[in-house]
Amino acid sequence: MEDLSQYPLELPESDKPMVRFQNVTKRYGALTVLDDLNLDIAEGEMVSIIGPSGSGKTTVLRMLMLERIQGGVIYVDGKPLTHMQQRGRLVQASEKYLRQAREPVGMCFQHFNLFPHMTALQNCMEGPVQVLGMSKKNARERSEELLELVGLIDKKDQHPSRLSGGQQQRVAIARALAMRPKVLLLDEVTSALDPEVIGEVTEVIKGLVSAHNLTIMMVTHQMGFAREISDRVCFFFGGKIEEQGAPADLFDNPQRERTQQFLSAVK
Ligand code: ADP
Repeated sequence: MEDLSQYPLELPESDKPMVRFQNVTKRYGALTVLDDLNLDIAEGEMVSIIGPSGSGKTTVLRMLMLERIQGGVIYVDGKPLTHMQQRGRLVQASEKYLRQAREPVGMCFQHFNLFPHMTALQNCMEGPVQVLGMSKKNARERSEELLELVGLIDKKDQHPSRLSGGQQQRVAIARALAMRPKVLLLDEVTSALDPEVIGEVTEVIKGLVSAHNLTIMMVTHQMGFAREISDRVCFFFGGKIEEQGAPADLFDNPQRERTQQFLSAVK
């Protein structure tokens, strides 16, 4: 059993990133997928995660949403996500604690998973009403604002089957934002889209980055997009961060051989 007393119960204001992975290890059986990962994401920072298939990119995001870890602690907004306090010590989080602690985290996936029997507007309203207990009136107002933001207010009464892939993904982004997340996770949100609609989704994400103080972690295969909008790019290899830095440094002047090989292969 890991000694959890080395981890703070909460992070102090003076050292409080929006997200902190501290010594995080994730295993599936004998397979170590994240290996003693340390990663801080500042409030309002846009971080892209790139790397070869199987390097652990999606797992990093999933640790904030779905799964338990085998080592280390994850903090969101200074509070432990994976653990909770009990008699002044950190212990594994209960299911109930996890559900609450994850409320500040929103996610969009490659496959948008909109509710097919609901309109775009109803999709956006569902979480705020059912999970946050918001009044229908307020949820509607907020959802309409967000559909406006993603350029789809004129489609609010359409069901997903009547929308293009790009439009569905924009509704999925609006739906995630309707929960007022502090951290937004974007997992290959353009990978399942036809090339001609990728641009409309990347434009929406660019707008979010410039207009809102949202913290974003994005897994992407689109190097040009990562370069354009990220504050920092992390290159993953074998469940570790092999190299990270400002996009211009990482893409133009990679220091590590694995980064160089990866970038020359995807160019
Ligand atoms: P990436 O997003 O970089 O392609 P992933 O984070 O999806 O990589 O996966 C990293 C490794 O973890 C892969 O070897 C994958 O097969 C393995 N993996 C992911 N999810 C599971 C799971 N639920 N059970 C077992 N192995 C998994």
